[in-house]
Amino acid sequence: MKKPLDLRFRQVHLDFHTSPDIPGVGSQFDPDAFAETLQAAKVNSISCFARCHHGMMYYDSKIHPHLVHPNLADRNMLKKQMGACHSHGIRMPVYTTVQWDDHTAKNHPEWLCVGENGGEVNWYTLYDPGFYRFLCVNSPYRDFLKAHVADIFDVLGPVDGLFFDILFLTDCSCRHCRAGMEAAGLDPVKKGHRMQYAQDTLDEFMTDMSAHVRHFSQDCSIFYNSSHIGPVIRPRLQAHSHLELESLPSGGWGYMHFPCTVRYARTLDLDCLGMTGKFHTSWGDFHSFKNREALEFECFHMLALNAKCMVGDQMEPGGILSKPVYELIGSVYEQVEAKEPWCEKAEAIVDIGLMTPEEFVAVGHAEPHPAVIGATQMLMEAGHQFDVIDSHSDFSAYRLLILPDNIPVSDELRDKLDRFTADGGSLIATFQSGMDKEHTCFRLDLGVSLMENQTRDIQGKPVAGREFERDAYADFLLPGESIGKGLPLTEHVMYRKGMEVAALPGSEVLAETMLPFFNRTYKQFCSHRQAPSSGIRGYDGIVQSGRRIYFAHPIFSQYRQNAPKWCKTMMLNAIGRLLPAPALRHNGPGTLIATVNSQPEQERNVVHLLHYVPVRKSVSIDIIEDIIPLYDVKVSLRADLCRCVDGAVPIVQLVPEMKAIPSEWDGNRLVFTVPVVRGHQMAEVRCERE
Ligand SMILES: [Zn+2]
Repeated sequence: MKKPLDLRFRQVHLDFHTSPDIPGVGSQFDPDAFAETLQAAKVNSISCFARCHHGMMYYDSKIHPHLVHPNLADRNMLKKQMGACHSHGIRMPVYTTVQWDDHTAKNHPEWLCVGENGGEVNWYTLYDPGFYRFLCVNSPYRDFLKAHVADIFDVLGPVDGLFFDILFLTDCSCRHCRAGMEAAGLDPVKKGHRMQYAQDTLDEFMTDMSAHVRHFSQDCSIFYNSSHIGPVIRPRLQAHSHLELESLPSGGWGYMHFPCTVRYARTLDLDCLGMTGKFHTSWGDFHSFKNREALEFECFHMLALNAKCMVGDQMEPGGILSKPVYELIGSVYEQVEAKEPWCEKAEAIVDIGLMTPEEFVAVGHAEPHPAVIGATQMLMEAGHQFDVIDSHSDFSAYRLLILPDNIPVSDELRDKLDRFTADGGSLIATFQSGMDKEHTCFRLDLGVSLMENQTRDIQGKPVAGREFERDAYADFLLPGESIGKGLPLTEHVMYRKGMEVAALPGSEVLAETMLPFFNRTYKQFCSHRQAPSSGIRGYDGIVQSGRRIYFAHPIFSQYRQNAPKWCKTMMLNAIGRLLPAPALRHNGPGTLIATVNSQPEQERNVVHLLHYVPVRKSVSIDIIEDIIPLYDVKVSLRADLCRCVDGAVPIVQLVPEMKAIPSEWDGNRLVFTVPVVRGHQMAEVRCERE
């Protein structure tokens, strides 16, 4: 499918939320110096501000002149930024804000969202600093926004793009939303109905606003930022021209958010941009610097996962770009520029589709599910090639599907999965995946049935999968030889109890569950944590039925919680039984990230190896500040990925260095050794006729 917009690789998002109490705004702004700083830093697209969360505007608004920042030295600053960027070949989309606007919130309280208690919807309190009160897009505020968009085009002329910020699912009971809910046959008293309406509101707002923008420009880029991209985007996908994945590892998102999110977003047929920041922590962290090694990793990881790069910055009020910040960005972007030819129109080569539970949890869930994070972590550690998908994805692109922990199966999804395995695909399901929504029975044939009388706590509630103080309901997996390869063949604790199942005739039990002497209660307990194994066999723990393997325990959520290596080992052994010839293998450590992309036009594949190790050296964030080189990393690719026909031979070379390295066939794999990975190394694999 043709991607509608091909984004540039080296972008900056230039925040400019500037208090009206600061004097001399833009007084040092020099358009040429601005563009030359960007050009020297190899930046080829920058998003600049029409209006900020303070509600201040930075262009000479015709219809809202009173909203232009009172201390803005040059009311044409934005227009001059645009002119200077364009004359230097730099693209400049325009930023504006939607739900957060402090000035408008203060002056139009009748446009604010209203919570169920009748008060404002605010991330903090009225007495905390911040512009985090939510405005409602179902109020006449929407007319204000549309007029603002028309004004931007009127004053600036054609713009390259519009970035609408802050579109969060908001539980609003304002009179406009209540009337809307009643008209839609929803009951505002019910929280579920309100959240459904909030979801529908966002879909409808984005569709409506994009149609409005298209009156002024047929081809400008349009993006709506909700700070996370997941399956909820599907109904509103058409309102976007591309996807920007806000994910500042030190800003609350962490280092796992980006891979989980981009592996999903890249399957949606829109070009993707990864957005990190130059900040040590998060947005608004003035005079702070990200360690260069961290910025390298974040940008190169974007390239390895088929996204373009964007670095967030905030311009200081005077209107000049910080020299050291652009030296930092430039030091990374000049490397990105050199790597680009091997990243243009690159498509991921994948074996595995990892289904996200996000679409099945409460409406509007706005972060990756713990099971998908745990699974992503495991698969990345093992060098597996995978996408994150949902039930609407095309399964035929995968050899193996993984349904982690909490994927309920409808008749429709069951039929789709059955067709997938009938066509030769394999499937791994864990815990409640494959069951109905209420977990009363299996809808998917996984070779097991649910036993009657699942264990309950002293209050009578089911314990399966729950986290308990001191692991009160833990039990133990006793792996058989094949699934336990690499482990002592003895009991391994499972901190969260699994679904108590029995293998059906014809299935193979790969691991049994052993029971503790008793569960830990106030009446009966042993030592500091879970009671030890009684040696008595419990339910079946891991069961294979044809090309389907079922794990009774929530093994991925458990891995996310505290990462027991035995969970990973057993899972990777299960994957190995179903996927004996993965696209890529390497002998590096679990801290090495390896991906392989294809560039069909160049008839080559490109392997990315990344070795940057985030260290939890502080209470709040993970830090990367060292590059630990890896030497002699042996990589192998499955033969069909080497594209060699009619006597052609594979050529492997390190790029962009253009240094050839030897390769050889080992059975049906092409094997080569990368002499050193110093942070990030790419290797291209293509065929040459002798
Ligand atoms: Zn409302």
